[in-house]
Amino acid sequence: MRVTGDDWTRLGDRADRYAHFIGHRAFLRMQDGHCAALAVQPAAGGGLDFFCTIYEHRPQTCRDLGRGSPECAGELAAKAARVAQLHPGLAPPPLPGPHS
Ligand code: SF4
Repeated sequence: MRVTGDDWTRLGDRADRYAHFIGHRAFLRMQDGHCAALAVQPAAGGGLDFFCTIYEHRPQTCRDLGRGSPECAGELAAKAARVAQLHPGLAPPPLPGPHS
C-alpha cells in the first residue's frame, strides 16, 4: 500500500519501521503476508484478534476504507482466502452488514 509524504510525516518516528521505499515510492512494509503494523494474537473466546498497532498514525488509504463499507466488504471477500491460508483453522471473517 502506498505511503504518501503526508503519511510518512504522520508516521513520524515509526516511518522507517512500518514503511520503506521501492524505487522512488514508499509503501507499507509486509511481514508474514500482511502489513507489518497489523498485530495478530489469540482472541479471548478462541480464534484470532487482528488490530492496527499504528491506528492513530495509519496512512490515508487506511483512513479512507471505512469499516463495514462496501469497499471493506469487497476487500474481505477478495482476501479471505489469503487469511485462511496464513491462519489455517480460522473461520473466515463475517462480511459486514448494515450498522444498527
Ligand atoms: S489499518 Fe493499520 S494494519 Fe491495516 S493496513 Fe493500515 S496501517 Fe496496516
